Order: sequence, then C-alpha cells, then structure tokens
Amino acid sequence: MEVLETVAAVRARVRAERRAGKSIGLVPTMGYLHEGHLSLIRRARAECDFVVVSIFVNPLQFGPQEDYNTYPRDLNRDTRLAAEAGADVIFHPTPEEMYPAGFQTHVEVEKLSQGLCGAFRPGHFRGVATVVTKLFNIVGPDRAYFGEKDAQQLAIIRRMVRDLNLDVEIVPMPIVRESDGLALSSRNTYLSPAERRAATVLYRALVYGRDLIAAGERDGLRVRDAVRRTLESEPLVSRIDYVAVVDPDTLEEKTTLSGSVMLAVAAYIGKVRLIDNIKVVVD
Ligand code: AMP
Repeated sequence: MEVLETVAAVRARVRAERRAGKSIGLVPTMGYLHEGHLSLIRRARAECDFVVVSIFVNPLQFGPQEDYNTYPRDLNRDTRLAAEAGADVIFHPTPEEMYPAGFQTHVEVEKLSQGLCGAFRPGHFRGVATVVTKLFNIVGPDRAYFGEKDAQQLAIIRRMVRDLNLDVEIVPMPIVRESDGLALSSRNTYLSPAERRAATVLYRALVYGRDLIAAGERDGLRVRDAVRRTLESEPLVSRIDYVAVVDPDTLEEKTTLSGSVMLAVAAYIGKVRLIDNIKVVVD
C-alpha cells in the first residue's frame, strides 16, 4: 500500500490512473479507522477503479480548546485496515503540506454552518469545507464518500458542491453502529468503561423519539423534548449541546412533522463530546 505525503505525488499518481481510463473514488477521513470508515472504503472499492483514502487530522476544524493534539492517530494500523478494505493509496499530508505559510483562503457554507454543531464549534465547518475543497482539487475524484453520522457535514458538502459547481458525486453512507446502538467514532476510544456503557443513551434517546413519531406524534417540539429528557436521565451525560428535530437537507427546525425528518443530538459523556442522528420518513 502506497502512502503518499505530498500533493504533487498524489496528483501524479491519480493522473496516471485517469489517463488509463480509470474512475477515481475518494474517502476523506481523519484516520484511526473503524468499521464506519471501512464501509465507505468498501463502497468506493465496489464503485470506482482507483480508491484514494485521505488520512489527515485537519487542524483547521478544531477549536483552540478541542482535542487536535490528543486526537487518536495510528497510521500503521490505518494503512493495514484501508488496504484490506480495498484502498489503492493513502494520502497522508502534513499540516504544512496542506496549509503552507501564508495560507489564507477559506470556504464557508454560510447558513448551514450556523446551527447544530456549528453553534458550539465556531469555525469547525469552515475548516471542514476548506479541507474537503482542497482534497477535491488535489485528487479530482469522480465520487466522494461521506457518512451520515456527520449529517450536518454531509448537508454542507452537498450544498457546497452544488453552489460551487464542483464536478464530483457525493455518495452518502448509513451510520455503522456497535451492537448496542452506539455510533462508531474514533472518539469512542476516549470513553471509560462506565462512560462507554452510558454512551448508548444517545441512540436510545433517538430511537425513543422515532418510536413516538411511529406512534403518531407529529409535534416536533414534543419529540425534541422527549429525546432531551431521555438524555437527561443518564447521570454520566454531563452536558447537552443540542437536541434537534430538523429537515435533513436544510437543517431547519421542524415543528410539524411530515416528509423527511432528522432527529439529531450532541452531548457530552463525561468530557467526551458525541453526536448521533436518526432519519425518519413521516407519511
Ligand atoms: P472522520 O474520520 O471522523 O472525519 O470521518 C470520516 C468519514 O467517515 C466521514 O464521512 C464520517 O461521516 C464517516 N464516519 C464516521 N463514523 C461513521 C460511522 N459510524 N458510520 C458511517 N460513517 C462514519
């Protein structure tokens, strides 16, 4: 498995593949790969001739008080897992390679970046949109794969691709969960055993909300409050950033439920911030 560290090396490699008539798939990640990432890589393998996995802990999307320095990293393990899942090359640039001295251009998807996680992580989605634009320009993929776990990120990237006429197909992939419902995340490794057990409350709260809708509830605020109360019932939930019932594309709050609805939560278990969501189609 080739691990390429420079923009020039990836460009040269992809250009050669494209000249040979191959389609290119890109899976952007921050590494510490788990089954969620691997599901994206496998799908890219099935649909594209040449699969690039980027592994880059993007400093631009971390706030000053966030976990950039402690974010888990293990390139050797990632390389092995990515190869097994069907990646052809890994792009693993240094921060200096992506953001050389003098860097000052950013991409901002204005409205979609304001609510939900954006309200608690200022600058986060600007960092995401900027690095994803750079990765698209460096790799030039036909398709790029993103998980629905990061639903706001997905909505922002789709909007950005439309708004800027980026020539790439965005392929969304369902959330991969542990058997007890916890959404896989590289940050789950921060959880102590007791916190890990408590962390299932995010999914349980979302399922409770979904069940209420299935039972006929059509008041979005009542669903939201019920989900919040479920989260509050878990003593290890130390803070709730938001509980929201929104349209999955516009991320606007839904008070009367119909059509596509997304229930989304962000909460801290101890010091670990976790997010999750669930989609419901209301008839
Ligand atoms: P990250 O390394 O956290 O930046 O995630 C890289 C990609 O993997 C993003 O598109 C995520 O949405 C996706 N991803 C992360 N966790 C999961 C999961 N549990 N299920 C599906 N996709 C995921």
